[in-house]
Amino acid sequence: MDQLIQKTEFKNYSPKDVLEATYLATKNFQIRALFEAKKEILEIGKYTEQEFYHILDAMIDAETERQLFLQDLRKIKEVLKLDDLVRKFSNLNPMYLLRDIIYLKEQGYIEESNEVKIKLVKKKIKGVEKEVEQEEHIFKYKANKLDADFVERIFEPVSIIYNSGLCCNCGWCSAICPVNAIVVNSDELKVDEELCIKCGLCFTVCPRSFPIERVSEFKSQLNESLTFSEKIGTYLNTYSGTTNIDQIKKSCQDGGIVTTLLEYLLKNKVVDAIIAVKHSEDLWNPKAVIVNNLKDLYKTAGTKYANCASLSILDQSKQYEGIAIVGVPCMMKAIEKGSLFPSGYPFFTNIKYKIGLFCMESFSYDNIIKLVEEKFDKNIEDLVKMNIDKGKFIINLKSGEELDVPLKEIQAYARETCHFCEDLTSDFADISVGSIGSQAGWSSVITRNEKGEELYQAAIKDGLIESKDLTEVKPGRFLVEKIAGIKRNKCKPIKLTENK
Ligand SMILES: Cc1cc2nc3c(=O)[nH]c(=O)nc-3n(C[C@H](O)[C@H](O)[C@H](O)COP(=O)(O)OP(=O)(O)OC[C@H]3O[C@@H](n4cnc5c(N)ncnc54)[C@H](O)[C@@H]3O)c2cc1C
Ligand code: SF4
Ligand code: SF4
Ligand code: SF4
Repeated sequence: MDQLIQKTEFKNYSPKDVLEATYLATKNFQIRALFEAKKEILEIGKYTEQEFYHILDAMIDAETERQLFLQDLRKIKEVLKLDDLVRKFSNLNPMYLLRDIIYLKEQGYIEESNEVKIKLVKKKIKGVEKEVEQEEHIFKYKANKLDADFVERIFEPVSIIYNSGLCCNCGWCSAICPVNAIVVNSDELKVDEELCIKCGLCFTVCPRSFPIERVSEFKSQLNESLTFSEKIGTYLNTYSGTTNIDQIKKSCQDGGIVTTLLEYLLKNKVVDAIIAVKHSEDLWNPKAVIVNNLKDLYKTAGTKYANCASLSILDQSKQYEGIAIVGVPCMMKAIEKGSLFPSGYPFFTNIKYKIGLFCMESFSYDNIIKLVEEKFDKNIEDLVKMNIDKGKFIINLKSGEELDVPLKEIQAYARETCHFCEDLTSDFADISVGSIGSQAGWSSVITRNEKGEELYQAAIKDGLIESKDLTEVKPGRFLVEKIAGIKRNKCKPIKLTENK
């Protein structure tokens, strides 16, 4: 308890206040559910006793902080912007403050208002600089006045996400669930109600439960070297790159940047394993794998457009001290949520690098087969490559033939759940890689933080990658921003309706 009281976050509070807040924290439904199910959780063995207590301790700390913050927020009469709150609560880590606001808002304790202002910005339209109107959203917060019949909102098991048709089958909830109550594959999800202890951890970390888009922008406010774009999120730099490794050139999708960065990480023992996907026994049906050598790594190169619940195997990677994960944007967001909620203590401390892909949509394996048969009159086994480029879906056949159809003709085959996805460029990765914006054989690269930038520069220094500035190539960053903006604008709003 002394340790808790002495924490910097709590230094402005009296020991009595901290003790009272900690007492309230132990009533939090997530903490209670975990504590009461300690025996079942340890029997399952996903988390060791030490890990269990680390997670629980961190949750108690985070909830204590939330209680203290809420108590002070209730004394403030005005509605405040996030910046004002950061200044007022300067004893708190700003990112955790935002986390607390999001969590308390979801529970019904905080109200968020959105003031829209129109500002004039300079924009180049057809080469001519013009002043155009742009909406600016100003979010403000205040503590809710609670009625006598107020009941806090609890986070339900993710069957509510799946039944609302929103699950993007990333697999994250299944890896995290402390009692293994969730089974998820690339198309379906099932929660075993008998096993479920109603801890709501799956909901808090699910990319489709409550939004965290503000986190991306906030990162750029906390770090001056980062730039924020409404379209491609927060970034450090943007590049166009291609691999210098011949073996990767043979099997990669675009510039082979993803496999090259992974090779760098493995060879230099920065990580000891990688979670990626390879073809399963059914060609083009992806299977998540943990690889720890270059031979197996090379088998993962190339894009498989069918979805794969890659994150579900994360708990199987625990024997590795450091891992890197490759995944689509919804997976990057899932991991980000897991590192923020409910406590800021990650469930898997061995995740060292997140390499995010660009992704407009993905398909079920059945629909990929159908698409190839119906649109090209070909068998999936005859394909050596699929690609999306310049508004076309392209297939390359073993015969050497290349065929394409306009992208809009294949929209009907895409997964419905992808229509609820706003992120093209993996906002929450350390480094994002895609084809849009670069020439054939090259990849567009967005470094999102110092870690991603250092990795990319280290691979260049070792002669593994040839790189240019993305703004100096054609079509360049302009196109990435344009397509990313289109995806955000057409994204359907998320509503939990349970009508699947
Ligand atoms: C479903 C999907 C849709 C995409 N849509 C777009 C798009 O619209 N626009 C765009 O610019 N780029 C898109 N991409 C990214 C693009 O296809 C390339 O993956 C990216 O440019 C990296 O190329 P590379 O040569 O560096 O990758 P490589 O070195 O070939 O490595 C590819 C990596 O992708 C991983 N991977 C392959 N398939 C999957 C999958 N289904 N799920 C998770 N990981 C996978 C592999 O494990 C491997 O690590 C998409 C990728 C996927 C998986
Ligand atoms: S965490 Fe992923 S797999 Fe689980 S419900 Fe959410 S979207 Fe679906
Ligand atoms: S299914 Fe969700 S709510 Fe139920 S035990 Fe697992 S993580 Fe907790
Ligand atoms: S479009 Fe979004 S939800 Fe669909 S696979 Fe890509 S990142 Fe996931």
